[in-house]
Amino acid sequence: MIVAIDGPAGSGKSTIAKILAERLGALYIDTGAMYRALTYKVLASGIDLQDKEKIYEIARNTKLDFVKKGSTYHILLDGKDVNEEIRKPEVSTKVFYVADYPKIRGIMVFLQRKLSTNESVVIEGRDTTTVVFPEAKHKFFLDAEFSERVRRRQSDLLNKGIKISWEELSQSLAERDRKDKTRPVGALKQAPGAIYIDTTKLSIEEVVNKLLEIINKKDV
Ligand code: C5P
Repeated sequence: MIVAIDGPAGSGKSTIAKILAERLGALYIDTGAMYRALTYKVLASGIDLQDKEKIYEIARNTKLDFVKKGSTYHILLDGKDVNEEIRKPEVSTKVFYVADYPKIRGIMVFLQRKLSTNESVVIEGRDTTTVVFPEAKHKFFLDAEFSERVRRRQSDLLNKGIKISWEELSQSLAERDRKDKTRPVGALKQAPGAIYIDTTKLSIEEVVNKLLEIINKKDV
């Protein structure tokens, strides 16, 4: 079984997908973490972010895996747990250099499909319903009002001890939305057949239950 969930930053898709995977006994694949991990590696290696060929070379020689730790999944970059590092703002603002490059996306999509072989998965990101698994039986597009998404991001970061002003966060989220929606390949959009859910006024539990209800109905 494949459940694919796309949506903008702060729509709640990671939180929801994680819980859903747990409830369905499926593997959770956070595709954003994969783009983030590769960006982290590129930044750490000091390569110019405009040097597409070098980045492609790095991507081809990178191993990405997920390992379950407690109730969360951590990403392993060449065997090293970089779960904390990849969430830092300096990575968030640079991911687009890597994610905009179609050849890199090709490698990522290949890896994402490979990770899903012989497994039930809940996979989430920007293009999982449109490019990675357009034929998935269960496809969702999660969304929320902009101010609510900023609020969620701010509270996530505060929980990690990172303080960023509302203005700065709003600007970076708006910029990320624009980039996610306009990239030539893998742009964020609602896939045909994907069910749109506005999570603005819903609790996490309410969204999870809504999705489970839809999945169970379709599976009958
Ligand atoms: O989901 P998350 O916010 O962690 O994703 C980080 C960035 O990775 C996104 O802003 C987007 O640029 C990129 N991404 C992507 N395709 C995906 C998942 C994430 O381009 N499937």
